[in-house]
Amino acid sequence: MVLLKGGTQLVSDKKRIVIVGGVAGGASAAARARRVSEDAEIILFERGPHVSFANCGLPYYIGGEIERSESLVLETPERLGSRFNMDVRILTEVMAINREAKTVTVRSRVTGAIDTVSYDALLLSPGAKPFRPPIPGIDLPGHFTLRNVPETIEISEWIKKHEARRAVVVGGGYIGLEMAEQLVGRALNVSIVEAGPQIMGVLDPEMAALLQQELVKHGVHLYLNESVEAFNAANPDIASASVARLKSGKQLPADLVVIGIGVRPEVTLARNAGLEIGELGGIRVNSSLQTSDPNIWAVGDAIEVKNGVTGEWILIPLAGPANRQGRIAADNILGRKATYDSTLGTGILRLFGLTAGCTGATERALNRQKVAYHAIHLHPNSHAGYYPGASTLSIKLLFAPETGRILGAQVIGRDGADKRTDVLAAALRSGMTVHDLAEMELAYAPPFGSAKDPVNLAGMMAENVLNGDVATIQWYEMDGLDPEKTVILDVRQPDEFAGGALPGAILLPLPDLRQRLEELPKEKEIVTYCQGGQRGYYACRILAQNGYRCRNLSGAYLTWSTATQTEGEQIDV
Ligand code: FAD
Repeated sequence: MVLLKGGTQLVSDKKRIVIVGGVAGGASAAARARRVSEDAEIILFERGPHVSFANCGLPYYIGGEIERSESLVLETPERLGSRFNMDVRILTEVMAINREAKTVTVRSRVTGAIDTVSYDALLLSPGAKPFRPPIPGIDLPGHFTLRNVPETIEISEWIKKHEARRAVVVGGGYIGLEMAEQLVGRALNVSIVEAGPQIMGVLDPEMAALLQQELVKHGVHLYLNESVEAFNAANPDIASASVARLKSGKQLPADLVVIGIGVRPEVTLARNAGLEIGELGGIRVNSSLQTSDPNIWAVGDAIEVKNGVTGEWILIPLAGPANRQGRIAADNILGRKATYDSTLGTGILRLFGLTAGCTGATERALNRQKVAYHAIHLHPNSHAGYYPGASTLSIKLLFAPETGRILGAQVIGRDGADKRTDVLAAALRSGMTVHDLAEMELAYAPPFGSAKDPVNLAGMMAENVLNGDVATIQWYEMDGLDPEKTVILDVRQPDEFAGGALPGAILLPLPDLRQRLEELPKEKEIVTYCQGGQRGYYACRILAQNGYRCRNLSGAYLTWSTATQTEGEQIDV
């Protein structure tokens, strides 16, 4: 092998692995490569000042939960280099790939010096860059994206220096929401401007609505279906950053603006080298994570992956997949056989008191891909109701009609949402069905769960649907019901009914139902509901066994009222 360095030719007989990007995927690949082979020569290029830093921890430094910026840097280049016997070059950007010569051109960001370095195997983990739309004024001082440690420190210092009081966060995805939470924690008055009709596009709308309520509860101003048309430079007495002018004409003075509207794969290197790029703009790889050039592998946010449920190509910029892919690519480079077949997009967010987790497909994605499914919602206690501190979980489970295979799940709650998300993600990953969920043996003691864990309950409820014991109707189908042909039956207690009910519903509490059945017309379909779903299901069973056609409202009043709520005075829909 030939190494060209500063014009000098060196000869080496070792397999040389060159890695572009020294954080999640790149650092993980480098460390794995060393563990697999003591002989390989490993050179890692990172254009920034840090390797292996905690991208995911950045918002928590801004909010003050992580107190020291040094905590964000998990490995220094020196430590990484010496522990794994590799050549780590920070502040060095890979500018071009010459596939025929199997070399990369690199440029020092300190001296400007250009080098050419040869490789036997090249691994790309350049990540994704925050999208900055061409909004007039977006580059004014005080307008930030968040990707690395220097940007994080800059934001933090800007807040301090300008005594920032008002922040505008553009975009209601993971990073936008984490930032909103942390800025509220730093006593800023925060507005979120989201172009879509809901925040967190990885959730279905009725689940995202729970998070929207939580934002409003914590004083965040939420503007849905809104976008920023311009950031106008402002008199410093009015705002330190700008005044954001929204589509509706509303003006939001901001001392700080955070742009969090998603990321785009960094593919300039790959594209210029003629590697195949997919329709979504990510590098295309095979199941060995090899690009269209057999000597080049790619991992992390820069690649397109297959959706583990629908099979479509998707971009999933998350740390877990990037880290696992780094390990798999390193194995393959060194002659082991490892495959990466798909990503489920399992993710989690803390938003003030709520935790929201998701895995697999949403109902929206299944509709887009024309995949048949059933959806159920349930609201079990996080742990045994009689033990202090139980709170309500909201779970949505999507599963296949014929086989009962799990297709996706979303879990939101104040306690225990993380472990249910992970159990459901593991079940989905291993191809389990709802019958497996019903039978799953999970750890139980009153402070932690229930003898029938929420995961078991989800499986049992799904089995009821598959068995035909109960038919369900979704919250968004209620508007389309014909009152001439349907009775909407509220089976709660009168005080619950008085506190709010579905339009046109009649009250017949569950305990009275058997005695008053004759009041219900047999020729009409009965749609039952209660508060959380259980009493409505019992009512449906009574009705079905007495010759009525009946459906139970999935998720009951809780899901319907959350999904259809528009009165939150700060949710601008
Ligand atoms: P990165 O980790 O971004 O690393 C790419 C590196 O390549 C960069 O440092 C870049 O400087 C370098 N580079 C690019 N081009 C070149 C070049 N030509 N030459 C040299 N170097 C180059 N994911 C989660 O799962 N959970 C979370 O809670 C979470 N929170 C996040 C919070 C924030 C604020 C951010 C920004 C991301 C978060 N993520 C989270 C996403 C996660 O960090 C990424 O999915 C993951 O880091 C992707 O790994 P990667 O190796 O593909 O890219």
